[in-house]
Amino acid sequence: MTSIDVLIRSAPDEACSTDLAKGPWEFDVTPGYGPGSSMGDVIPTGAPRQGELPAAYREADAADLHARIRAAKAALGDRVVILGHFYQRDEVVQHADFLGDSFQLANAAQTVPNAETIVFCGVHFMAETADILARPGQDVILPNLAAGCSMADMADEDSVEECWAQLEELYGTEADAEGRVPIIPVTYMNSSAALKAFCGRHGGIVCTSSNAETVLEWAFERGQRVLFFPDQHLGRNTAKKMGVPLERMPMWNPRKPLGGNTADDLTDARVVLWHGFCSVHKRFTVEQVEKARADRPGVRVIVHPECPMPVVDAADEAGSTDYIRKAVAAAIEPTTFAIGTEINMVNRLAAEYPQHEIFCLDPVVCPCSTMYRIHPGYLAWVLEELVAERKPNVIRVPERVAADARVALDRMLAAKPKDA
Ligand code: SF4
Repeated sequence: MTSIDVLIRSAPDEACSTDLAKGPWEFDVTPGYGPGSSMGDVIPTGAPRQGELPAAYREADAADLHARIRAAKAALGDRVVILGHFYQRDEVVQHADFLGDSFQLANAAQTVPNAETIVFCGVHFMAETADILARPGQDVILPNLAAGCSMADMADEDSVEECWAQLEELYGTEADAEGRVPIIPVTYMNSSAALKAFCGRHGGIVCTSSNAETVLEWAFERGQRVLFFPDQHLGRNTAKKMGVPLERMPMWNPRKPLGGNTADDLTDARVVLWHGFCSVHKRFTVEQVEKARADRPGVRVIVHPECPMPVVDAADEAGSTDYIRKAVAAAIEPTTFAIGTEINMVNRLAAEYPQHEIFCLDPVVCPCSTMYRIHPGYLAWVLEELVAERKPNVIRVPERVAADARVALDRMLAAKPKDA
């Protein structure tokens, strides 16, 4: 039985989709994100699809798959490193050499000098970033190509280029008396390599949820305004914390001229927010925070900054997955935590720290649709293919894109988080 099965069977009326009990391969041939938080989002037509997983892996039971993964790992030795994101299911995480957020994992890959292959148990943009930062000769494999990210898909290169052209026409390109250019692009790590490269080409930078404030400070030193994509919530929450008034943060809807704004609104803007969001974190509400406080007086509410602003405002704290993990680990007295982030991570924290009461703010079990697409069946498949000296599902960013993206990533590396 998988951890998803346990979640669903222990609360049969509380799962967002009964399809979560099926193997992810059931959804590989159909368009869409599959069951989970992103199931209502529209997937781009060109999104990568996974070919059919061989029956031997679809039909194997959990014990068999784990034994095969362990045997293949032993055969491959340190030629392969397996990275697992915090939001992955436990059955995958137990085989990971490193567990972390997207940026920690991209860095972790570089600390394993002998690894010829990085198997990235996460989603597509993370595997791209690992490929950009990997050593020459290292390959990155994503066990299921359908593991994309609905938020990253909300900003495509053509739409951002079109937005940029409109903004340049409005603002011009001349720097002001302090040498600040009219606008600087900032992309969240959760974006395609093409958009990281866009930022590299246009004097911009990448941010994570840990260093977003430092990155915005960097950008405001060099630009009069920021175009922030794809996550409106991280952009708004961070800029608001830095004192930017909400009326100076217009939203850019890529389907409308000037993003649905007036020229005056855009001229007065400090941060232009792209109309993107994470469907996992969008599920959290102020009502859930209020209920947690009513049910558990003294509860400590911590949410991720991808949550909508009213939820962040209602919480006690907001921070990245790493911040949340460290906050729980640092609590000395038994504490009740209500956490607003992905369910797999919350349940793992609850298991790791039984001295605390830890629960997810959202009572409905609804994991990230795309993280869910990685399953031990795919991991066993790619590892056994590697043992047979074949390399399936290699993620390769073209060098001209990677070179520009590296510029923006290097700027990000220099921007240390406030709490580092
Ligand atoms: S949790 Fe949200 S941002 Fe992360 S991979 Fe899933 S959809 Fe994308």
